[in-house]
Amino acid sequence: MKKIIQSPYDSIMPITQRPDLVFERGEGSYLFDDQGKRYLDWVQGWAVNCLGHSPKVLVDALVQQAETLINPSPAFYNRPALELARLLTKNSVFDHVFFANSGAEANEGAIKLARRWGQNHKNGAHEIITFGNSFHGRTLAAMSASGKPGWDCLFPPQMQGFPKATLNDIDSVQALLNDETVAVMLEPIQGEAGVISITGEFAHELMAFCDRNELLLIFDEVQTGCGRTGSLYAYQQFGIEPDIMTLGKGLGGGTPLSALLAKKEVSCFEPGDQGGTFCGNPLICAAGLAVMRIVEGESFLASVRETGYYFKTRLQLLSEKHGLGEVRGSGLLLALELGRDCACDVVDRARETGLLLNAPRAHSLRFMPALNISRSEIDEGIYVLSAILGEMMGERHCD
Ligand SMILES: *Cc1c(COP(=O)(O)O)cnc(C)c1O
Repeated sequence: MKKIIQSPYDSIMPITQRPDLVFERGEGSYLFDDQGKRYLDWVQGWAVNCLGHSPKVLVDALVQQAETLINPSPAFYNRPALELARLLTKNSVFDHVFFANSGAEANEGAIKLARRWGQNHKNGAHEIITFGNSFHGRTLAAMSASGKPGWDCLFPPQMQGFPKATLNDIDSVQALLNDETVAVMLEPIQGEAGVISITGEFAHELMAFCDRNELLLIFDEVQTGCGRTGSLYAYQQFGIEPDIMTLGKGLGGGTPLSALLAKKEVSCFEPGDQGGTFCGNPLICAAGLAVMRIVEGESFLASVRETGYYFKTRLQLLSEKHGLGEVRGSGLLLALELGRDCACDVVDRARETGLLLNAPRAHSLRFMPALNISRSEIDEGIYVLSAILGEMMGERHCD
């Protein structure tokens, strides 16, 4: 049978609503479509291009590694993986690293590791307390661990063993404790929920709760890690130590790299428990190494904090000017509460004007620019956003 192709987009599975645009080239904070139109990019591949589009260090590392060795198989050591693992453990409380290809896959690894630890130390306890509105990825176990509204009904049956507590409410965590509990897993700042942070008090209560009940504390830092919130990892801002942490997004600077990190005491996988064909391949680990050598620098992190503060201040002024709501977040993971359900409209209009934004909720915007964005690029985007908001408020479009 002859197939009739209607449009160039016909052969892509329609898993999300996409605008009819094809992006061709990226450079720093800017993206260019195939018509040559330029966009200031505050999405950056969903908070993954931490050094912006196609930074030279990353391109050079990829080219050089591609010419040298792409994949000897995960059954052998390779130099970039060894060096990146050394760097990640040197600057954190963790001792061992398992590399994977996506945040969801790293979280699957964390769940498996906790269950293995429960088999070894807690009579097979396997329940992991997670939180309402959390996001841990799109594999079946990660979806079951997530508290994203509606996800429990999408692909039934859900995987068992992920009771949901309420963020910043230690009593709600305590209420779920039983003999089967092995761990608590959370994002220090819930990104997809709209940039909602745990409080310092809750972090300490949770740490004490886990200590008292011999439970593992798992931080999903897929979004908050790798400098995004102004410290290398967000847990460092709370003065606590998780047992397990997952990284993704910014780790590969736009290339598919994630990691599961664990303290030695809980790193209990036996040979055969965990693996993956592409896991720890030298091509992508070389990319991660090039990115993390820059991101871990104290002056780089200081500049993320300063730029983040500048961005936040500009958003606060914007909010006052247009009578909007709260500005949340830290470092360069920020959100603006609009106070009404018009975020998607703002995103569409901004894109037409050449500014790429994200709306994690119908009433809020999220900002996840490159970590090396300049002040003038921030000013440029704020100017565009202010004009759009002014127009929309004038039209009373937003009520
Ligand atoms: C994006 C994200 C994930 C999923 O990562 P993928 O690479 O899309 O699988 C998991 N956890 C958090 C906190 C995230 O922000």
